[in-house]
Amino acid sequence: MTSSVTVEDLPETLPSIRGFMFDVDGTLLLSDRSLDRYEVLPGAVETLAALRDRAIPFVLLTNGSAYPPSEQAARLRKVGLPVLDEQMITPSSVTADHMGRRGVKRALILGTRGVGHALVEAGIETRHTGDPHAQEVDAVYVGWHPDCGMKDIETACQAIWDGAKLYVASDVPFFATKQGRTIGYSFAIVGAIRRLTKASIILTGKPSLHALRFVARKLGVSMRDVGVVGDDPAVEIIMARRGGATALGVTTGMTTIEEWERQRALRRPHRVLADLRELPRCVGTLERESVN
Ligand SMILES: [Mg+2]
Repeated sequence: MTSSVTVEDLPETLPSIRGFMFDVDGTLLLSDRSLDRYEVLPGAVETLAALRDRAIPFVLLTNGSAYPPSEQAARLRKVGLPVLDEQMITPSSVTADHMGRRGVKRALILGTRGVGHALVEAGIETRHTGDPHAQEVDAVYVGWHPDCGMKDIETACQAIWDGAKLYVASDVPFFATKQGRTIGYSFAIVGAIRRLTKASIILTGKPSLHALRFVARKLGVSMRDVGVVGDDPAVEIIMARRGGATALGVTTGMTTIEEWERQRALRRPHRVLADLRELPRCVGTLERESVN
């Protein structure tokens, strides 16, 4: 079986897909924030199972950084999604990798316990507001931080004025939940830090190419051979288009079919799927392709 596939029904110009990246919120599930529960979206379980059974590589990339990847994967398995720990990517995975390559040794974390977990695992010393020497770091990393206070902002700014780089998990103002659109905390926190410091950001979540490059390496394919599936034109679709990957939009999250049709240029997916039930049909062609 070859891993190179062409998706049926798509325009002939559509490039081949050799591995898939799925967004989580609005694509595979909707979280019910008031009950701390997930509603799995139609076709999500079947699609991932079909890819697994056909040995087509896939990963999940969420911009959520609240949980370490292995904990997030376990939560998704509990609701039936067939996801291995190593298939779950969060911005913190990308951040740890990028910091490692740049020689970052110490980082100030603005986030919950889960945010810094991947960094600790990568051997980076993490500090938090209130720790001794909290601001003496090479980098500041902002993630999911619902309890962020002014002391956190102030410590981060001091670190940046002393030369630390500013890393951000997500620079997206909203994401889809069962209650409708919900604000992204790191977007708001970084807004405050940047008003004070004017620092530029290193974005490690979607739509950054750091994230897509990390995904492609995990899948063992080039960026151009990744099929990116998501619900947000300004997040997954822009990332896919910038990296030369194939962009597939779904209507189960942030974006209705009418809104998808209005998207232009970098925000326009190669194809819109009503929901993930339409993807296995495409995947069904893969085995036929591989026979030839
Ligand atoms: Mg989403």
